[in-house]
Amino acid sequence: MQIAHSRSIFEQFILPSWVQDRALSANLRISNYVVNAVAVRPALADVFRVSHENLLALRNDQENSTKVFCTPFLAFAPTLSTIADWRSFIEGTMPTVTMDRLQAGLPHDLSVVERLALEHTNRSYITALYDMLNMSVLAAPLLGVSNELAAYLRSVPQHEMDVAISDRLVPLFQWRFADEMFWLETHAGRLSRELIAHYLMESSPLRTDRLPHSGPWGKFRLETFVRDALFEAFLYFSCRAKSVASLFNTSVDTAREAYRRIHGKPSPSGQPPSSLTWFIETAPRRVQSTFQMWLFRSAIACDVSTPESFVAAMDINRAFFADDCKVPPERSMHLARSMSMNEELAVWPCRKCGTPYLASNSSDRIELSQSFTCPCCNGTLTATRGGNRRRGPK
Ligand SMILES: [Zn+2]
Repeated sequence: MQIAHSRSIFEQFILPSWVQDRALSANLRISNYVVNAVAVRPALADVFRVSHENLLALRNDQENSTKVFCTPFLAFAPTLSTIADWRSFIEGTMPTVTMDRLQAGLPHDLSVVERLALEHTNRSYITALYDMLNMSVLAAPLLGVSNELAAYLRSVPQHEMDVAISDRLVPLFQWRFADEMFWLETHAGRLSRELIAHYLMESSPLRTDRLPHSGPWGKFRLETFVRDALFEAFLYFSCRAKSVASLFNTSVDTAREAYRRIHGKPSPSGQPPSSLTWFIETAPRRVQSTFQMWLFRSAIACDVSTPESFVAAMDINRAFFADDCKVPPERSMHLARSMSMNEELAVWPCRKCGTPYLASNSSDRIELSQSFTCPCCNGTLTATRGGNRRRGPK
């Protein structure tokens, strides 16, 4: 087979475009099934955690549906959230409470066609799940599961999963954005990429405040070809040649030359960013910086090397925020590097919704952990909202 274009060596560290396409295709296919299934069987709204009206309205709204469905994140999370649940499903052992609830939630009089449609959609969902698990170190945040569950699912041969899908009919997916505020914001026309990022973090079992920090940056112990590939990846994401040279211990000239080869223009000069409060100065910046650290630390937690974790996080961040990106990788590099060395910025859970966010821990700008609220709950992200959420912490 002839490959039409040459691939850069660093592309092994980023999510291939065909996997992103699979995510989009799964999002559209599953939401299409859910819209129709819930229209016929309103009781299924509880199983899938979404109403026919809400999902149909989102699907018909092209601008918002693009933001939700055209990302590497699956808009449906697994209904089975623990390893024990999946074992019970795959091995057919004693059902867990979740398995019991899911089986009981299905209407008893489903027709053969309805059963087949659900089984078929389960298969589409599992295929997308396996693509992510096998192709990305960030599968856990992309799917909305813990790193432990992702590791377990990676170990299950797909034929065993196939047999289980034929043997036991349970819905394997549910709407990921179960927070009712998601729909209020969507109907009010306030759905931004930052808000979606917030709900992705809020609903994820991966919590930035409990994920490990990276070790010190620099002096990476990597095979030469891995090191060369990652060096190129940093430049590809437009990190400055000077910063990348110091990180990978090469000459600045080599980095400048590589930058020019990749981008067709010289690396920007000037001082590298120094302020850390910059990252939390505005609500969108705080959300985007937190989102990047959430991804970065999720990879670090899987024992992925620091530069590879960073490249994977930047890749997903770029695919997700696209033109709305407010924290460029040169800044992100400074952020991740600084957070491994000092505690000027901390990660605190919001006291209303429990989602961990970057917060100032320095005397320049005092934020107190006991009274910290996230940009979504305190209304700064959606200017018209006035901190009126009444919810207990998670
Ligand atoms: Zn909050």
